[in-house]
Amino acid sequence: MGSVSRGRISGKTRLLALIGHPVGHSLSPAMHNAAFVADDLDFVYVCLDVDPDELPAAVRGLQALKLRGFNVTMPHKRAMVPLVDELDEEARISGAVNTVVIEDSGLRGCNTDGGGMVMACQEAGIELSGKSVLLLGAGGTAAAIAVAFGNAGVGELHIANRTVERATHLRDKLYETGIKRLAVHSLDALEETVPDAEIVINATPLGMKEEDPMPVSAGYVQKSRAFCDVVYRPGTKTPLVRLAHERGVPVVAGDRMLLYQGVLAQKLWTGREPNVKAMDRAIS
Ligand code: NAP
Repeated sequence: MGSVSRGRISGKTRLLALIGHPVGHSLSPAMHNAAFVADDLDFVYVCLDVDPDELPAAVRGLQALKLRGFNVTMPHKRAMVPLVDELDEEARISGAVNTVVIEDSGLRGCNTDGGGMVMACQEAGIELSGKSVLLLGAGGTAAAIAVAFGNAGVGELHIANRTVERATHLRDKLYETGIKRLAVHSLDALEETVPDAEIVINATPLGMKEEDPMPVSAGYVQKSRAFCDVVYRPGTKTPLVRLAHERGVPVVAGDRMLLYQGVLAQKLWTGREPNVKAMDRAIS
């Protein structure tokens, strides 16, 4: 069979890739290839640095080369939308594609980021159904999470963003998802405007740098609510995750979302249940 796990890449090995700019820091190759090796699957996953100007040409090339699919990261997630032939609900509403499946019929653009966060919540025992959720941020990742949380049955969604118009725009796009109550807020004074949130999601980049301000005030990090942080810093926890741990507050860190968005993407490409343990070990 010539599988990668036996140290060979054969004429039949299917290629998968991550396109972004830059991509050298990514943990995705280690994560996906670990599962292919563990389960003796004849796939290999590589990183490809694509300049923004070259995105359409690169995508045509990946299709011409008959890759099975690819992941998309910064800065290409939005620019991928017009380059695919169909979009899943999460990619359509969020306006961001993180996974592409290459079919004979064309390119299918998907977004597994939100579903990844839902699975990470399930792993942490955080129930979403009927809950009041405060979403910090209104970018592509926030939007993908909003759609997935809507599908998971959250009761109400409060969107707070630095640029309030962007939050309003996201709210208007979310009406079709069936979330019962949607509201928009500025990032100021959330303690007063959203006092009853049961789940808080940081979908801003705040926490990428140690000197960043917390996305919510320290006083908001209480045992009565659970927290999810999209930010992933290899080898270190964000200040929000650290504070939640110190206070015994349930929290999902960005590395769990990274794992499960990858699990969902791999399932789309291979059509089988990925080896989650192997993927987890590779990024831990
Ligand atoms: P994006 O589309 O550019 O949106 C960024 C959002 O954060 C916007 O709502 C923006 O507000 C807000 N924001 C940015 N800087 C801010 C600041 N200094 N203070 C307050 N709000 C700020 O970016 P994205 O693609 O959604 O990515 C967001 C984060 O998610 C990134 O850090 C990315 O690495 C992370 N991510 C993690 C995973 C994972 O698997 N763990 C997956 C995907 C993304 P404005 O609208 O006002 O600009």
